[in-house]
Amino acid sequence: MKKFLLFILTVLVILTGILAFNTLSLKSKQLISGNGVALQLPVDEKAVEHLSRAIQINTISFADSLKMADALPRFDSFIGFLKSTYPLVFNSLEDTVIGGRNILLKWKGSDSSLPPAILYAHMDVVPIEQNTISQWKHAPFSGQIADGYIWGRGALDDKGSLVSIFEALTRCLQKGLKPARTIYIASGSDEEVGGKTGAESIASYCRQNKLHFGFYEDEGLMIARGVVPNIKKDVALIGTAEKGYLTIELMVDMPGGHSSKPQKETALDVLVKAVKKVHDKPFEKMVSPSTIGFIDYLACEMPMPLKLVFANKWLFKSLILSEYAKTDAGNALVRTTGVATVMNAGLQDNVIPTKVSAKINFRILPGQSTQQVAEKVKEIIDDSRVQIISGERVEPSQSTPANSWGFKLLQKTSAEVFPDVIVAPSLMIGSTDSKHFADLTDATYRFFPTRMDNEAIGSIHGINERIKIPYFMETIRFYETLLNNMQTFSAENRK
Ligand SMILES: [Zn+2]
Repeated sequence: MKKFLLFILTVLVILTGILAFNTLSLKSKQLISGNGVALQLPVDEKAVEHLSRAIQINTISFADSLKMADALPRFDSFIGFLKSTYPLVFNSLEDTVIGGRNILLKWKGSDSSLPPAILYAHMDVVPIEQNTISQWKHAPFSGQIADGYIWGRGALDDKGSLVSIFEALTRCLQKGLKPARTIYIASGSDEEVGGKTGAESIASYCRQNKLHFGFYEDEGLMIARGVVPNIKKDVALIGTAEKGYLTIELMVDMPGGHSSKPQKETALDVLVKAVKKVHDKPFEKMVSPSTIGFIDYLACEMPMPLKLVFANKWLFKSLILSEYAKTDAGNALVRTTGVATVMNAGLQDNVIPTKVSAKINFRILPGQSTQQVAEKVKEIIDDSRVQIISGERVEPSQSTPANSWGFKLLQKTSAEVFPDVIVAPSLMIGSTDSKHFADLTDATYRFFPTRMDNEAIGSIHGINERIKIPYFMETIRFYETLLNNMQTFSAENRK
């Protein structure tokens, strides 16, 4: 017994030693650039005016091709607005309009051995729910400049980014920047409805021209303010991977009849049970490479005892996963999720329906596939009366490593422009146009360099979307610095 206690004690001492060693030897992964003074940009009234005008042009996109055709004049005027507002950009860069309303600009570099980079921002926006219009402090397409903000649909998603890129390009051209690396700027017109005619047609143009990008940057995550639990500083979350997408339709076809004489089980009963089975059997919690990166980059910034937990994820992995799974947003980071979104059943209250269906939308973690999810759903439902049909699907993205040239470039740029901000890789749980470029690059980053708190994040696709003017200035400064750094920044894997 004594020997056993001694053994346990020895194990505990060794374990404590390992935990303490790992915690104390943690090195910060953050960069300190220059003297740690932010590269600021005083408020540029013209840039503010430009974003306001961009918001005023209603570029709502539609999945319906007829409605989209009707919207064409508005996209024309948006492209016209860009051309007349940024003549230096359009005079200096080669421009191609693809499919009538998508743009691709090329800024030719002097060194053709460097793989080109691309900055992408979509020009379309989502509609406004009619019943929410009265809750907007300023009309959604007013582009109102008030209370230190620029208000309206698209301010954050994604015209804020698009206009910042054009402002930054103009500033670089005015200062005489001559790029070594070729830079492309692209903007699609239907990201919000899947990007099939916008981003996809730009991507297929790039494919035909045999382009392969060494760096691709798109919307996605942001500089989160007070959003990451237990971290006081703002965190620049760089989306190094994106979840996959699969919609599964469940269909049941059974005899119906009069509701006064119901069968033991109707088509609707079977369907509801199937949906509930899927709901009650969540997918396993897992860490994807982006989430491992997230933990590694933030461990050092955590207060004790969380620092000890994060520094020893080999031991506390399941504890970390369980903590994340407690919130909806955290849960989406650590597992494939599925949720019923559409149900079709019944015509009248006294008729038992015969054909009923439901759609379940899955968002799939990198490392799993749409095929695996479809098989798992079949196994969970395990009922031959339920027909399972896989609909629209997008495989989860590859994960871009945090030690890649592009990640380091973004980190360096962030350290220069936002020295107070911590950088970490993270997983993008939503979908972006980057999926259309998956075969055109190995280095995709989803990051809109703007500070956003929970309220700002909630305004995206919601009400009172707006961008704070000083944050908008920082975003322009970020892109300007990024365009410059792209030319000079070298890491061992520069290409
Ligand atoms: Zn967007």
